[in-house]
Amino acid sequence: MKNIARTVGFKPGERNIFFHILTACNLSCRHCYINKKQHGTEQLSKEQIVKWMTLFADADKKSNMIFLGGEPTLHPDLPFAIEKAKELGYFVTVDSNGYLFHELLHKTTPGLLDFLSFSLDGPDSQTNDPIRGEGVFDICTANIARAVSAGFHVSVIYTVSRKNLHALHRMVPLLEKLQVKKFFIQVLGLRGKSARADSEEVSRVSREQWLDTVPEVARLAAEKGIHVTYPKVFLLAEEKFECAGLVAENYFIFPNGRVYQCPLCEDHPINAYMIENNRLVKNEGLDEDSFFKLNIAEGCVMNKLLQPDTIEYDDKGVPLYRISCCLLKQEIG
Ligand code: SF4
Ligand code: SF4
Repeated sequence: MKNIARTVGFKPGERNIFFHILTACNLSCRHCYINKKQHGTEQLSKEQIVKWMTLFADADKKSNMIFLGGEPTLHPDLPFAIEKAKELGYFVTVDSNGYLFHELLHKTTPGLLDFLSFSLDGPDSQTNDPIRGEGVFDICTANIARAVSAGFHVSVIYTVSRKNLHALHRMVPLLEKLQVKKFFIQVLGLRGKSARADSEEVSRVSREQWLDTVPEVARLAAEKGIHVTYPKVFLLAEEKFECAGLVAENYFIFPNGRVYQCPLCEDHPINAYMIENNRLVKNEGLDEDSFFKLNIAEGCVMNKLLQPDTIEYDDKGVPLYRISCCLLKQEIG
């Protein structure tokens, strides 16, 4: 039904490959989740990119290839990688911070690149730039406008924190003005910089703040013809809990060869797989998939281990709600 948010269950036969082709970036966002100690500092070569993409290609499944960094457009071979990904049958997305290095818009085409996604954390420079860096809002929005007018399918990702929740509703007129038809609202994950003690200012919003604001802004955006996706986060009593690590296929690949199935695990050396000599190898012993099977009253195990403050309990110690898999989404529009 139109304009009612629906939960998008994990789809059997669909897979998402989140491919970090380098970790370098021109920005230094306050909530950056890249952790070079864990993810390396390498920039993959053209040959490695093709070989690693081939490891995950499967013509029988709908496979999404999402190129990430760092800033993926800093990689001079990104247009080549996009073309190869398309040849291998992937639906291709690039997530950029908006700088579009190496003239990406001139070196690829909307026929090869299915979606170009821009990260923006505010509807104006006063909100966005204290989080993402001075001058970033103007550059990012100018490049969104260029990409839209060049015929690319453009989406925007907004990572909600205490620093920018108040401005989320003002994204709706901005997206309309920029003619962006797809909007992803993201919850701040406690990884990388935001997991550190000094990150108080860019911290997660409370359950009440999230539920009071995000679904309503998504509804308002949907009324304007914008398709919105946001994480479920809090399950209702009657909703089923499922761990994507068990029922879906998601691979988060880093340039040092680590391959995770769960993004919450990325700050820890518990990756289920490793790429070694261009081969995908299953890690043995205690790794992330040992946790996926644990059945706990709080829902997501990794959330309970890494972000216990997100759960509230009654006076008997029973959780008041369960936390969904971070990969479970709501859609509206
Ligand atoms: S643009 Fe992305 S990789 Fe770069 S600093 Fe910001 S969050 Fe980190
Ligand atoms: S976020 Fe939680 S539920 Fe989702 S894959 Fe990771 S451990 Fe499983």
